[in-house]
Amino acid sequence: MTANTTPVINFRRGGTAAEEAEKEANGSYGRREAKFFGLKNDGDQAVVRLLTDHDDWIYVLQHSFIPTKPAPQGAEHWPPSMMAVCRKDEVFAGHYTDCYLCDNKVKNTFGNSGSPYVRLWALAVEREVVRGDGTDALGGPSHKGLVVGIRDKIDEIDELDAEGKPTGVKFRYPRILIINQPMKGFFANLKALYGLHGSVCDRDYEITREGEKKSTNYRMVPIDPLPDVAPGTPHWQQYQTAIAEREINLDVIVAERAADAYYAKWFDPAKDVDKDGNVVAAGSAVGSVSMINLDAQGASAAAAPAADISPDLRSRIANLGVPAAPPAS
Ligand SMILES: [Zn+2]
Repeated sequence: MTANTTPVINFRRGGTAAEEAEKEANGSYGRREAKFFGLKNDGDQAVVRLLTDHDDWIYVLQHSFIPTKPAPQGAEHWPPSMMAVCRKDEVFAGHYTDCYLCDNKVKNTFGNSGSPYVRLWALAVEREVVRGDGTDALGGPSHKGLVVGIRDKIDEIDELDAEGKPTGVKFRYPRILIINQPMKGFFANLKALYGLHGSVCDRDYEITREGEKKSTNYRMVPIDPLPDVAPGTPHWQQYQTAIAEREINLDVIVAERAADAYYAKWFDPAKDVDKDGNVVAAGSAVGSVSMINLDAQGASAAAAPAADISPDLRSRIANLGVPAAPPAS
């Protein structure tokens, strides 16, 4: 492997993943989901340990900064814009016949073309530098203010019962981050380091945001490898266990952002998502302000016949491209 190879996609063919994503949209989905990596301002810093190495980075076409449709009544958090994975990306192998954002040439929040561009995906653990505070536990007075180690940041996650309510038990897991960034200014820098070290998972990186908007660059400073956090160690295995127990699946996370329900929820004003996660015609979702008691199935079929995939096609797609083995963990 040389530094000049293109990242190899390791992404289940989209139909199956998209269906799983739609199932995930129901139930307890969301409580355990990983946070997105983000540094807001020039000079902000984070320390991360990449969990997805160069060859497994996922890349897809994405629409960025797309204005969301008006917030439904009662919505607490409704962002002004969202990203979306383009439904015309070839990874979906024709699973979708439309892309609302491409088909309608929807502009981004800056008023520019919202055309899709390649972005990459990887998982990481957020880490933090520990400095001596003068106590013996952290190296004594001689190490006060100096870096004495690096540790995982921790997420506390509620255990849920069968009804999805917290039981009071908290699980403590390493803080898993989803990284979704362009090649230029982010993954290209990691790729150069991959060229030097043959892996991006073998050491921590201190990442510093430099600049704003399109000129943003992320400076990556490698930290000396720590033998007890190397791939293959028990500590590394804890990361894999955290991903498994939190049910974090990067394929599903990416595919979910191309799913019918995602586009209906955030962008397409002709559609809504009902409380069961089904895509229905706008205004017919149970609990919406509509006073007309429409039959949801009939309304959906009448309003948007072309965009929906027939159950038959869906079941055929679902049986395509099922991986022979679960993704390597
Ligand atoms: Zn598109």
